[in-house]
Amino acid sequence: MSVNIISETKREVLERPPPENAISHIWHKGTAPSEKATMPASDTVIAYVNKHAEAKMRNHALAYRNQKLEVMGLLLGEVRTWQGQEYVLVRDVVTTDLDATSVSVKFDNKGFEKLFAGLDDAGFDYVVVGWYHSHPGYGCFLSETDIKTHGGIFVSPHQVAIVIDPLNFQIEAFLLRKNEGQINQFKVYWDTWDDPYGGLRKIKK
Ligand SMILES: [Zn+2]
Repeated sequence: MSVNIISETKREVLERPPPENAISHIWHKGTAPSEKATMPASDTVIAYVNKHAEAKMRNHALAYRNQKLEVMGLLLGEVRTWQGQEYVLVRDVVTTDLDATSVSVKFDNKGFEKLFAGLDDAGFDYVVVGWYHSHPGYGCFLSETDIKTHGGIFVSPHQVAIVIDPLNFQIEAFLLRKNEGQINQFKVYWDTWDDPYGGLRKIKK
């Protein structure tokens, strides 16, 4: 794939504490059926994914569950640091036309251009902090093809790869810079102002 991420905006890394409200994903098992993922999951949380972004990504994978088609998209957000530890905040996910089978997926060439044109037109400041794709029925790991095909695009050391298996209900996160097979911790976060149930609990009669 000969596509460059021309629109990536370079921004300074903010020193900020991680989100207060964050939980492990219910599908996060910390294990994978791959030989490449035999190392124990690291305790370091490498990414915090907004709950709406998480739902979009999961529903995307689930929508193509029955056809067993892979899906793929980009993670948008920012890189932050806190007490010497770098982490990624995923605020949204986006996708475009895909060229997919049960064991492979790539952006349709025109789709990729369309996606970035759309993002530029949206006029907001964004950073591509990684990508997600699905493995319908065969577990969460990074295959050699994943690393080879997509590794050239996501070259920044902080960029995260999220893999979803919508048939086995698994989701895992990987860093691309090293230990590609190693599963890392990631959490789903929400903002206090974005929690209607929390708001209701505060009502007193
Ligand atoms: Zn893959």
